[in-house]
Amino acid sequence: DRQKYIRNFSIVAHIDHGKSTIADRILEMTDTIAKRDMENQVLDDMDIERERGITIKLNAVELHYQAHDGHTYTFHLIDTPGHVDFSYEVSRSLAACEGALLVVDAAQGVEAQTMANAYLAVDNDLEIVPVINKIDLPSADPAAVKTQIEEMVGIDAQNAVLTSAKKGTGIAELLERIVQDIPAPQGDLHKPLKALIFDSVYDSYRGVVLSIRVLDGQVKVGDRIELMNNGKQFEVTEVGVMSPKAVPRERLMVGDVGYLTASIKNVQDTRVGDTITLAAHPAQKALPGYRQITPMVYSGMYPVDNNKYGDLRESLEKLQLNDASLEFEPETSQALGFGFRVGFLGLLHMDVIQERLEREFNLDLIMTAPSVNYRVLLNDGQEKIIDNPAKLPDPAEIKEIQEPMVQAEIMVPKDYVGPVMELAQRKRGQFDTMSYLDDYHVKVIYKLPLAEIIFDFFDSLKSSTHGYASLDYNIVGYEVSKMVKMDILLNGEPVDALSFIVHQDFAYDRGRKIVRKLKTIIPRQQFEVAIQAAIGNKIVARSTVKAYRKDVTGPLYGGDQTRKNKLLDKQKRGKKRMKDVGHVSVPQAAFMAVLQMD
Ligand code: GDP
Ligand code: MG
Repeated sequence: DRQKYIRNFSIVAHIDHGKSTIADRILEMTDTIAKRDMENQVLDDMDIERERGITIKLNAVELHYQAHDGHTYTFHLIDTPGHVDFSYEVSRSLAACEGALLVVDAAQGVEAQTMANAYLAVDNDLEIVPVINKIDLPSADPAAVKTQIEEMVGIDAQNAVLTSAKKGTGIAELLERIVQDIPAPQGDLHKPLKALIFDSVYDSYRGVVLSIRVLDGQVKVGDRIELMNNGKQFEVTEVGVMSPKAVPRERLMVGDVGYLTASIKNVQDTRVGDTITLAAHPAQKALPGYRQITPMVYSGMYPVDNNKYGDLRESLEKLQLNDASLEFEPETSQALGFGFRVGFLGLLHMDVIQERLEREFNLDLIMTAPSVNYRVLLNDGQEKIIDNPAKLPDPAEIKEIQEPMVQAEIMVPKDYVGPVMELAQRKRGQFDTMSYLDDYHVKVIYKLPLAEIIFDFFDSLKSSTHGYASLDYNIVGYEVSKMVKMDILLNGEPVDALSFIVHQDFAYDRGRKIVRKLKTIIPRQQFEVAIQAAIGNKIVARSTVKAYRKDVTGPLYGGDQTRKNKLLDKQKRGKKRMKDVGHVSVPQAAFMAVLQMD
């Protein structure tokens, strides 16, 4: 029975612990890719992934492995991203698997995302195979890392597979362990089709290409399928597997992971997490969907060239198909014109989306300072959700402002409890409980404002605990909070896109800091630029950018023409990301200054 010889698994790890390199070695050892065609990290096929060395989109590859028991096994390997902002992608891919290789760096040991990914794997009932990688490093200490995995993750790690993906050591053993330790897929070939959509991309020739995992039954070319959430029907035009390029097949059967196209032209018709069945012989019940992903931060996105508004909309629609968590709606700004308010999972997500839009779709964008959602109760009884600081109603109309709160669970070795509590307190945290997990590890629970968590909490937490703390948080509702809107005025004119919402106790300090920061960011112009921070009518800080007197490049660089050209070039490139607000040229960095004040 063919199902017995299928293994579906993911590789999860903290960033840089080597999961992409291990995936490469596995592809090589199973001859999925000839050595000469091997580029580093073949699964990371977007340019931006290559450059940043991080995996953003998950990728599923089929490969064949002749095991020591004489049988040939079909593996489906699903690569996952490692950063906290992308954990929804991790959980999507894990839902398509029976097992996970948990890769831990032999020198670094268990880190925050090792823990977070391990929890996701446990939540999805996956068999976890611990892998200790980079054993070639002089500082590698596999024995200590084994103990650490047992203590922190709570799984047996004595027979963890020891690998050096760099040198290829241990990969042969790893392939055998995948066969032995990870269970074959369950499911019934004779039941009606049930397939999970775990990813999708838009292809201009074939339309929407869905990544699917078949949980029951089978699907073939010509079948009429139905998407169980919206009832829409399509005829299947192609099914196949990635190996690692697309290889068409006649059918996909129970246990298989592959792709499907069905002339789906409208990017809104499919949603990741939906269930596919056959129109003629439908399954009774859809698979439980993924947990609803809600954006955590919102930011305004505007084309530098106002004529590109339509292009921006189209590009966002295409990206949305690929990224279920992306949300956007039109908005206008006095300063920036027509654009969109876009929701993101976190700041890295925001960064990646901006970069993809600029590169893949060739757009120059201005993004405004990110904000969380506030709930505002007005004196007249109305309630409003405000995701854009500029839209906060007049304080005279406001009865109260509520901000989103999270319950944050921080796990940390007991020696670091002090710094963690200090940090949480500084970020307006309310202490809840602290408990010992074992002799060394403590779980601290705080209630914290989402706005404080989003921006730099995770980085501060990591640096104050040498990377040993792990953070997990859930939104637990809204709480009344003394928030005020800070306006920024340039030459007396408020710039809506620069407004931000801040807690009253921090307002003066933030006002002073942002003015100081903006002074360094806004370039000298032909006239003086006054910068002011104001709460209502009250100016809380001010500063001035002096007018420039002469050509900056002249006296500075004398006769050196190459340096002069370089500088002019740099200015020209910088210009692309400048926006004229009134008469003042404001660079992109100004809109992000609010993030860099601590
Ligand atoms: P990922 O972020 O988990 O996908 O990690 P990568 O596979 O991109 O690896 C991160 C870095 O570690 C890269 O520079 C790799 O070349 C390096 N690396 C991966 N495996 C090994 C290994 O076994 N030994 C050594 N010394 N370096 C490795
Ligand atoms: Mg990677």
